Amino acid sequence: MRLRHKPWASEFIAEHSQYAIANPEQYKGKWHEVFGNHNPIHIEVGTGKGQFLAGMSVQNPDINYIGIELFESIIVAALQKIVDLQLPNMKLLNVDASHLTEYFDDNEIDRVYLNFSDPWPKTRHSKRRLTYKSFLSLYERILKKGGEIHFKTDNQGLFEFSLISFSEYGLQLKFLSLDLHNSAFEGNIMTEYEEKFSKKGQRIYRVEAKYMNEVE
Ligand code: SAM
Repeated sequence: MRLRHKPWASEFIAEHSQYAIANPEQYKGKWHEVFGNHNPIHIEVGTGKGQFLAGMSVQNPDINYIGIELFESIIVAALQKIVDLQLPNMKLLNVDASHLTEYFDDNEIDRVYLNFSDPWPKTRHSKRRLTYKSFLSLYERILKKGGEIHFKTDNQGLFEFSLISFSEYGLQLKFLSLDLHNSAFEGNIMTEYEEKFSKKGQRIYRVEAKYMNEVE
């Protein structure tokens, strides 16, 4: 994603603190209070400009969505979508996903979405991939038992790495698709990257990975 300096971004984010949550540590364990209901909470890690999450929020008003994005200059585009659509069930955190457990309590989250995560193709950068085992361990902590990761990407190398990483971690793989747009999957909401890459004719890979830690 190309980063452009946007001097007005901080101000825009501060003006809309009901959607872009400042100091999210203070809401750890209390996200249901922030949304004002007890609906399930799904997070997207690396939400980018927010097209997927805004679409999901409209499609599923009884689910609460939180987008996690590292860069202020990118998250403002997601914030603009919430403001335009007045979405009560979507919030944004401008934070690094490496610190997810500072913002969410154990078992607080119902699902994690990873869409078109940065592939970090060099082996020496593999620990930065959002499907690396250290991230899977963070997600495991904040997810309810038996929680799921839903993952889409156009990048074959990242997909292969992730399938191995999920399997080695003991996650159960479900609904694996090597060509999402020509599959029976219904209700797909495209991300910005998904639109861009599928227009170029690239196949989209998708899988759901479930933690097998439910109490017998
Ligand atoms: N999901 C969007 C899509 O499909 O259009 C954006 C994909 S973009 C390739 C990956 C996004 O993940 C970038 O916006 C990047 O800033 C964000 N990201 C990468 N690592 C992150 C991290 N550790 N914490 C939060 N966001 C991260």
